[in-house]
Amino acid sequence: MNYTTTMRDEEVKQNILKCSRCGLCQGVCPIYEEIKSENSTARGKLMQILGLKKGELKLNKKILQSLDLCLNCEKCKLNCPSGVNTTGVFFKERKLSFIGKILTSNFVFKLKISALRAFSLFKTTPKYDKNSDILYFEGCISKELKQELKIPALKLKNGNFKCCGLPHLTKGREDIYSNMVEFNENIIENAKLVVFDCATCFDTVKNYPFKNPKNKDKLIFYTDIYKTLPLSSKKPLKVTYHMPCHMQSSGKDIKEIEDILKSIKNITYTRAKNAQDCCGFGGDFFIRHPKLAFNIAIKKIKGIIETNSDIVMTSCPTCLWSLKFSIFISKYIYKNKNKIKAMDMAEFLNKYCYIENKTAQKERKRTNQDVGMCV
Ligand code: SF4
Ligand code: SF4
Repeated sequence: MNYTTTMRDEEVKQNILKCSRCGLCQGVCPIYEEIKSENSTARGKLMQILGLKKGELKLNKKILQSLDLCLNCEKCKLNCPSGVNTTGVFFKERKLSFIGKILTSNFVFKLKISALRAFSLFKTTPKYDKNSDILYFEGCISKELKQELKIPALKLKNGNFKCCGLPHLTKGREDIYSNMVEFNENIIENAKLVVFDCATCFDTVKNYPFKNPKNKDKLIFYTDIYKTLPLSSKKPLKVTYHMPCHMQSSGKDIKEIEDILKSIKNITYTRAKNAQDCCGFGGDFFIRHPKLAFNIAIKKIKGIIETNSDIVMTSCPTCLWSLKFSIFISKYIYKNKNKIKAMDMAEFLNKYCYIENKTAQKERKRTNQDVGMCV
């Protein structure tokens, strides 16, 4: 393994000792909000890990369960006043049994992803430009389900990257994750820019332990290109946006996205009161803890329905699944007659919006120059 990807033991210890036990992470943890168990919070998890390290606790089923009860939403890390890298510690300290190692192997991961092909009947083969040096980072789920990412006047080449590695890192599989980091950095090294449309992949790759730190500057989220484009919607629509947790942890502010949506003519944007709350699906968390994921997802969709929007958008395929699922279920639970649809924001911009006039082309050129592109 060439990459030092996760924390060393000393760093784990330092991070745990940084925790002042203030409890602020309790107030932001979606799991705590549901089950009211201190053991599920970041503080609770850290104290259990410390107890194990000191030999005061013995690893048992209960501790394994509380360490597993995590959506990896990073809200505890983002809100920790002491700067504890909570999720970094959890990734490092995930314990796997022999069976656990088999279940978290890359082979099983690929099997799970290939099951998505059953849902991809209407996916067309994307036509990317083989000669461009601006690469598209196509995430694993997008590969199976998403249509081509089209950005006005921007020629994209599919970078043929491997998985960003997060599904493996969160399971404690540093070995698999570091292979992905190495493979993907080699591709980024020769690219001019790399464009993302999945918040989770973007956040993960931004946090790679790059061998060449300059590679980090080549990564952009596609919404940056839309920031100054004068867009108009083909018909009047009321919209809202679900902010993926990883969009927040990648450093993006919901206002950035809202400013784009609010600037589109014919569009009325309303922020849901819980726009930045977790959707509850957390990668494959919903498979391991369906009841908990369901409760969080249903609360989420209630806030979205209250905006009375036609469309809720997001920028992460797992969040999109969660929204689609909970819209479907909410029709029975809340007797919801609202015809709200969930869509990926990139798809929305392609399907419903157009650039208004010639001034737009000048603007577009300027924007692309701002982000360092030749079009
Ligand atoms: S917010 Fe940070 S310092 Fe406070 S208890 Fe949680 S992890 Fe510890
Ligand atoms: S990452 Fe999210 S779910 Fe996990 S402990 Fe932190 S706040 Fe709770």
